[in-house]
Amino acid sequence: MTTLADRLEQTRTRIREACHRAGRGPESVRLIAVSKTKPSSLIRQAYEAGQRDFGENYVQEIVQKSEELSDLSELRFHLIGHLQRNKARQIAGLVSAVDTVDSERLARELGKRAAGRPVPSTRRLECAGGSDGRLPVLVEVNVGGEAAKSGCTEEELPTVLAAIDDEPALRLVGLMTVPPRTDSPEGARSYFERLRELQEVHGGATRLPELSMGMSADADVAIACGATQVRIGTAIFGERPPKDT
Ligand SMILES: *Cc1c(COP(=O)(O)O)cnc(C)c1O
Repeated sequence: MTTLADRLEQTRTRIREACHRAGRGPESVRLIAVSKTKPSSLIRQAYEAGQRDFGENYVQEIVQKSEELSDLSELRFHLIGHLQRNKARQIAGLVSAVDTVDSERLARELGKRAAGRPVPSTRRLECAGGSDGRLPVLVEVNVGGEAAKSGCTEEELPTVLAAIDDEPALRLVGLMTVPPRTDSPEGARSYFERLRELQEVHGGATRLPELSMGMSADADVAIACGATQVRIGTAIFGERPPKDT
C-alpha cells in the first residue's frame, strides 16, 4: 500500500524529473500540497514527512485548520481559492501567501487587513528576493477568458498589479492561473505559455518572479513552461468528493 509519505516523495521526484527535462534546477519549483477538504490529521502527516507549504481554497477551513495545527510552527498556508473581500480580515495573519488577488478593491482591502495582522515570522514565505514582513501575493489571471472563472482579465491586470505595488503591507511576487479544463495535459500548454508572456509584458521575473501554475494532471507541462510553484492535491492526498474539484 502506498502511504501519504510515499505519494509525497513520488510527487517530489516527478517535479525533480520535470525540472531536469526542462533544464532547470531541482530547487526552482516549490510544491504546494493542496489539502482542501482533507482533515488536519493528513496535513500533520505530510508535515512530518517534511512538507511545509499547503494550499487551501476556503477561508473557513483555513481558520479551523490553523487552530488544529497551531503547534506546527513552520506550516505555511497558501490561499489558492477565490477570496471575497469581506473575508480578507479573517485570513490576515493565518496565511503565508494569497495567490488569488484579482481586483483592485480586493488588493486594497487585503492590504489594509494584512497591515494590522502580519503572519508570524516562522511562517513567512521566502520568495525570490527574500522575505520581509509583507504578505506575498500573486495575481490570478483568467487566461482562458472563461465567464465562470475567477481571476482578472488580461486587460485588468496592470491596474491590479499597480494596486498591489501601492499597498505597503503587500508584496507583489507573481502571477497565478487555473487554465480551462482540457482532455489532455498538453491542452493546458498554451494557457501556461500565455501566463509566461504576461509575466514578460509586465516587468519580467524581476517584478514577477513567481508563476503558480500546474496541478496533479498537468504539473509537468507547467514546469516545462516556467512554473515556479505547482499546486498538487489529488496525487498526494487522493481524490476529493466530486463537488469539490
Ligand atoms: C483543487 C485545486 C488544485 C489541486 O488540484 P489537483 O487536481 O487535486 O491537483 C490546484 N489549484 C487550485 C486553484 C485548486 O482549486
